[in-house]
Amino acid sequence: MLQRKFDEVVKQEFPNAKDAKDTSIHYLGKMQIEHQLDISKVLMATSVCSDDINVPSTTFFNVLFGPFVMGGLGGIPFVGQTGMTAFAHHIPDNGSAFIFYGPHIGITLEGDLGKMYRPRMENTGNSCGALMLALSRLENKNYAPVLSDDDYQQMKLEESLLPFREEILASDNPSKAITEATYEIIDKKIHEYLKTCKNEFNVDKVTLLGGIIINTDHGVDDYFDARNFEVIELNSL
Ligand SMILES: [Zn+2]
Repeated sequence: MLQRKFDEVVKQEFPNAKDAKDTSIHYLGKMQIEHQLDISKVLMATSVCSDDINVPSTTFFNVLFGPFVMGGLGGIPFVGQTGMTAFAHHIPDNGSAFIFYGPHIGITLEGDLGKMYRPRMENTGNSCGALMLALSRLENKNYAPVLSDDDYQQMKLEESLLPFREEILASDNPSKAITEATYEIIDKKIHEYLKTCKNEFNVDKVTLLGGIIINTDHGVDDYFDARNFEVIELNSL
């Protein structure tokens, strides 16, 4: 019942979003049937936000090995080239790699984006907390993030968002816009690291699935709005 209500609310904002089960069945099926990948030899990496609320979303694909965790606050792959190299070295012989990545955004039954009810909490909280914090800071025209050892990930995330600042603030829904911008940042970094680290892989193919995770209420499936599905031949990079 609640799942069905959320289905309507989520699809008003993200018409192409699929729930957890549909997402895993759809994309694992594509890998197996359209790309002849052996699912029993796939190592997964994730680049999603550290937030505990995203843990269930990474179990969409729990038939795969892993995950190798690349993401920090906001879902940015903070492990960098060293992390991509380590991941490359861990893939099963004659297997392949799968990288699931993207930012997340909460939604309530009232359709409020950027918010959600967390387990056993009466009031809504922000989701993604890191992105909503960044948004509240970027709304102040005089604000500029200062990199520091003690808050490195948040400051770096805010710095990466600076080129999108005007576009985000001018949008009808800045919470959604900052999430879309973060998707672009993560997608670009994953592609860059793959290119610079391609010789570290002992396999030919890497599957990418990027998009936006939509967090609903506790006990209801999360949704995923895919933006990129591709099977990359590493020697073509
Ligand atoms: Zn988050």
